[in-house]
Amino acid sequence: MKAKIGFLDLIKRLGGEKMPLCNFCGTCIGLCSQKALYADYEKGRPVFIKERCNSCGVCYKNCQGIEVDFDALNAMFTGKETCDKFLGSYKECYLGHSTDDMIRQKGSSGGLVTQLLIHLVEKKLVSGVIIPRPNPEKKWLFKPAIVQDIEEIKKSSQSKYCLIPTNEILQGLKKVRGEYAIVLLPCQVHSIRKLQADGNRDALKLTYVLGLICGHNMEYEASVFGMKRVNISKEQVVDIKFRDHGSWPGGLSFLLENGEKRGINFFHYHYLNAVYLPYRCRICPDYYGNYADISFGDSWLMRLLGKGVDDTGIPLGWSSIIARTDTGLKLLKDALKKKKIFLEKVDPSEINESFPFNISYKLSGFFIRHAYALHKPEFRGLERPEKIERRLYHFVYNLVLILGSTTAFRIFINAMPLNFLLFLIKNFKRLMGYRPNARDVVVKYREKQ
Ligand SMILES: Cc1cc2nc3c(=O)[nH]c(=O)nc-3n(C[C@H](O)[C@H](O)[C@H](O)COP(=O)(O)OP(=O)(O)OC[C@H]3O[C@@H](n4cnc5c(N)ncnc54)[C@H](O)[C@@H]3O)c2cc1C
Repeated sequence: MKAKIGFLDLIKRLGGEKMPLCNFCGTCIGLCSQKALYADYEKGRPVFIKERCNSCGVCYKNCQGIEVDFDALNAMFTGKETCDKFLGSYKECYLGHSTDDMIRQKGSSGGLVTQLLIHLVEKKLVSGVIIPRPNPEKKWLFKPAIVQDIEEIKKSSQSKYCLIPTNEILQGLKKVRGEYAIVLLPCQVHSIRKLQADGNRDALKLTYVLGLICGHNMEYEASVFGMKRVNISKEQVVDIKFRDHGSWPGGLSFLLENGEKRGINFFHYHYLNAVYLPYRCRICPDYYGNYADISFGDSWLMRLLGKGVDDTGIPLGWSSIIARTDTGLKLLKDALKKKKIFLEKVDPSEINESFPFNISYKLSGFFIRHAYALHKPEFRGLERPEKIERRLYHFVYNLVLILGSTTAFRIFINAMPLNFLLFLIKNFKRLMGYRPNARDVVVKYREKQ
């Protein structure tokens, strides 16, 4: 007889009660037919109702936190496309932005994702798009929703650097027909592609998987850190934006009940990832969202600095775009034809050039962090490079991340001036021979302002 496996077994594989290998992707919640799981958005964890579990094992089988079969994922993509050792399989690479200046300015990078989502809805290519929306009871937290309204899509632009259980929408998809577009982080794409390969009917409704390139995510505590810094409580917050304070690239910003806006700068907030990085993100090897239809990220190329500027002289956002599938490429070409977006075809090397630090951190450093990790997911089909570049740097940075995640360090950093963490990280990078890119030029300019 087949042994039954339930969520309790999954908790053990996730590393015990604290579930360090869970990054709140939401897949288990989305799949549970017994409603034995629900999301605790504030804690960033699924909550288990033991009595309801029938040990069907679906949550266990599809949890990307404990296991990813890259061989199987690669088999779905390679062979049909060109392959770059960093980018993975791709059909075409572009730099680009929305042709609507407002959408571009309000976006995280070039507003490409928002523009394409609007295009999909307007052209009726989908019945709706799945994006994070503020939790009605606690507006500083996000939950996934199926959205058809263009204004709502516009309002949802910008990256949300916090854990959002987007894959829990699989529950919502059970109740609807049609085809949908979804925006996902690389880890969430892993589960969705596995489900699609297994013929899961709800996952197959996700015709357009738009992936966000992901260097790291942050625990919700990073947002609380920001609130404390600007002397506000959670209850006062009616909206939170992560790339809105000041001009592009924009920092963490809170809209309060009384209409007032408060926030902290991009360069102060950005480095909090060394302190509030979720454990599972530390040992994630997928930077470019290798299994999405299209992957989107910032573009930090020196040659783009000054090419399109706002009234303070700072460059407007550009996106790096990697089209990986026919579906993705067709969508981009269609939006281009309708003049909704601007695209410039580039060589993959120009995409990689934007991210020397992130490529090194995620694609080389991963092997160091994984080797020393206490709890490890099982990854099949990951090739360890013969030589890991900047070994010492990754080893020391891993220690920084371990130190950063301790309660003592978090209390310490909360008591220090905002500039202190920036000072620490900047000097650490300098000491370790980190080569600045266009992003550092912008950050430096902003700092002076
Ligand atoms: C946690 C995280 C880490 C990232 N790390 C990097 C990085 O290291 N390097 C890099 O180049 N780019 C990174 N990105 C991607 C980048 O910040 C932009 O999101 C991306 O370039 C798209 O910009 P855009 O202007 O085209 O999108 P926009 O027009 O701003 O639209 C973004 C869309 O994505 C949705 N969205 C935002 N956050 C999430 C989320 N967490 N889950 C699901 N949907 C979401 C929004 O609701 C919106 O619909 C990261 C994004 C996130 C969320």
